[in-house]
Amino acid sequence: MRAYNFSAGPATLPTEVLTQVREELLDWQGKGLSVMELSHRSSEFMQILAMAEQDLREVLGVPDNYRVIFCQEGASAHWDMIPLNLLQGRSRADYIETGYWSYRAIEEGRRYCQVNIAASNRSDQFCAIPAQNDWRLDPEAAYVHYCSNETIDGLEFNWIPDTGKVPLVVDASSHFLSRPMPVERFGMIYAGAQKNIGPAGLSLVIIRDDLLHPPVPGTPFLMSYHDQVLANSMLNTPPTFTIWVASLVFQWIKRQGGLTAMAAVNQRKSAVLYDALDRSGFYRTTVKRGDRSRMNIPFHLRDPALDETFLREADARHLLQLRGHRVVGGMRASLYNAMPMEGVLALIEFLQEFESRHG
Ligand SMILES: *Cc1c(COP(=O)(O)O)cnc(C)c1O
Repeated sequence: MRAYNFSAGPATLPTEVLTQVREELLDWQGKGLSVMELSHRSSEFMQILAMAEQDLREVLGVPDNYRVIFCQEGASAHWDMIPLNLLQGRSRADYIETGYWSYRAIEEGRRYCQVNIAASNRSDQFCAIPAQNDWRLDPEAAYVHYCSNETIDGLEFNWIPDTGKVPLVVDASSHFLSRPMPVERFGMIYAGAQKNIGPAGLSLVIIRDDLLHPPVPGTPFLMSYHDQVLANSMLNTPPTFTIWVASLVFQWIKRQGGLTAMAAVNQRKSAVLYDALDRSGFYRTTVKRGDRSRMNIPFHLRDPALDETFLREADARHLLQLRGHRVVGGMRASLYNAMPMEGVLALIEFLQEFESRHG
């Protein structure tokens, strides 16, 4: 049986995709071998890579003046690659602090440049997104970096910052492909695969042509966006199996009706769960209503002494990986694209039943 997996990542994948992987695991398209065993330089793999890019472009509506890079590094590596590649002789960059992941990017950015924290919600305990009116953007910044969905804190931007001529760079890891996204508003988008794209081992970069220049001298060669684009993401052996599974996920999204359909389902799933949490006095959430994430929903039991019992009973009901991130504690339900509404309803039923016994 398949349990409902609420992990924030590596996360649940569509059952349909995993079934297809199983069917083709030993014998991919009648070739008598596994995708894992294909040379990355073979015409077969080149075709998989081209299809993956084409499907991603179609699903997301990537304009022609943007390049797609399939990176072997996780999302974290981009915290170094972004300054190395995008500073281009400038000494300052703007960062928006809204939670754990945007802060990690700030810490890393400080190795390379003068980081201006143009807005922060730290004094607000990361519970609301600072309004753009209060941001202090630097017109000389090389770029503005932010994280559009804070996986751990449970905040999500429902608007796109306006940074004028300064390129906007976004870590969209944990809600990438969960709804339509106007790519043309960004200089660069990046996302780790293991949240909403596929298995771990891959991150995607979508970058505007005019931002592609050779990086700071001394940059490790694998960390150059410029060279990765020239090499068609093959400066070295790419994570071939993960790219193949990601391409199956893109095709699955197309079959679901694309990102507009995904957005509608994701909206409904998160709305019913927040509604159940709001109606209960037994559970509490902390994020301001308009800034709540549809993907990652942290919540707490009013009595943390019940946490372990809650998790044990949830496990027994095949509702898995609900433990919150260690820095915030409590619980977290991640409702990525591949989590069906039935899983959310099963969780709500358990929440109510647990409350009736322990409340
Ligand atoms: C998971 C996550 C990361 C880190 O991803 P890695 O692939 O482990 O490097 C970075 N940013 C966000 C928003 C994330 O959700």
